[in-house]
Amino acid sequence: MKITEIVESLEDDMVKAMVEMLKIEAISPEAGGKGELKRAEFLQRWISDFGFDEIKRYDAEDPRAEGGVRPNIVATIHGKNRERSIWIISHMDTVPVGDISKWDTDPFDPVVKEGKIYGRGAEDNGQSLIASMYAAKAIIDSGDRPDYNFSVAFVSDEETGSKYGIQHLVKLGLFRKDDLVLVPDHGVPEGNEIEIAEKSIYWVKVTTYGKQTHSSIPHTGINALRAGARYLVEVDKALHERFSDKNELFGPPVSTFEPTKKEENQPNINAVPGEDIFYFDMRVIPEHDITDIMGVMNEVAEKVSKETGAKIMPEVYRGEPAPAPTPADSEVVVRLKDAVKKVRKIEPKLVGIGGGTCAAYVRYEGIPVAVWSTIDETMHQANEYCKIENLVNDAKVFALVGMRESGQA
Ligand SMILES: [Zn+2]
Repeated sequence: MKITEIVESLEDDMVKAMVEMLKIEAISPEAGGKGELKRAEFLQRWISDFGFDEIKRYDAEDPRAEGGVRPNIVATIHGKNRERSIWIISHMDTVPVGDISKWDTDPFDPVVKEGKIYGRGAEDNGQSLIASMYAAKAIIDSGDRPDYNFSVAFVSDEETGSKYGIQHLVKLGLFRKDDLVLVPDHGVPEGNEIEIAEKSIYWVKVTTYGKQTHSSIPHTGINALRAGARYLVEVDKALHERFSDKNELFGPPVSTFEPTKKEENQPNINAVPGEDIFYFDMRVIPEHDITDIMGVMNEVAEKVSKETGAKIMPEVYRGEPAPAPTPADSEVVVRLKDAVKKVRKIEPKLVGIGGGTCAAYVRYEGIPVAVWSTIDETMHQANEYCKIENLVNDAKVFALVGMRESGQA
């Protein structure tokens, strides 16, 4: 049997595994949950008789979580060449259910209907987790060895920063320089976008200090809202002019500088506000160095401060430089493109996104990572679902990535 046919024969098992897994909550303590331990233990039991050569746990300590740990599972099939590994990394944790009244079914009692599985975490990231798990099973059942070690990793903590998940595995040195890493945690319904680059993320908090007074005698104060608003308009223009390079890999192909959150300055209407705070969310293409941004922001702050008498102070709230993009000709991208073409009969294109998937933490190590999956983009929403067709076809793609040279017989 061909490896793709073996995957097809496992469809019912995949659906069953997904339904059982989604019944077990896996929400991180930051988001009000107990962590991923119960779900991890379930998965370990589920795969215990698959025939993996190794199943290991790499727990990160977290006293807030059930059992005091955030579990990470790595299950490996030894390859013909054991010097390199193909990794498929998916995450066990999910976001909370959100507004429960918006769900048509119980988010933790999954329902299968019309070719879809409904439940919290079905798409993000359950689909990829189950698909990678059964891609591995299909490889084992084929009786042949994958080209390189084939490791599926189920990690914790993706939704709240990855410190106890992928970052923990990176710290332990599990990934080697010439490993091939696939993170199936972003995608489009057509399944034709392979993400190889991300923008830098730069968030800035802007505080404006003025002088509060009664709003009927504004000349006795300094209006922090007006000064801050003027700064917003001027710095917005300056940033767009100064950081204007284009990179067509990305959609949109330019850096974005968006004023977003605005904090309340005072409860009453009849006073000139003495303090004002707002934030920028910037996504910057790798051509620009994010450490240059604050220089421009300070320059404009000085100018507007002088003109208004207010004191405008921008400060970095979050700054994550984009890792170097994964080369288009790296082996993981080439293998993935090939497999997607075979399974989906489409020509995948390489893209960049606004950031930040957990792939960045592996790319920082200089290891190429391809981010790909086929999803309807229902993640984090009410009535989240995964299409069974996508579950099966993505599993075929993962299996082919592992078995490219192995004849796939
Ligand atoms: Zn995700």
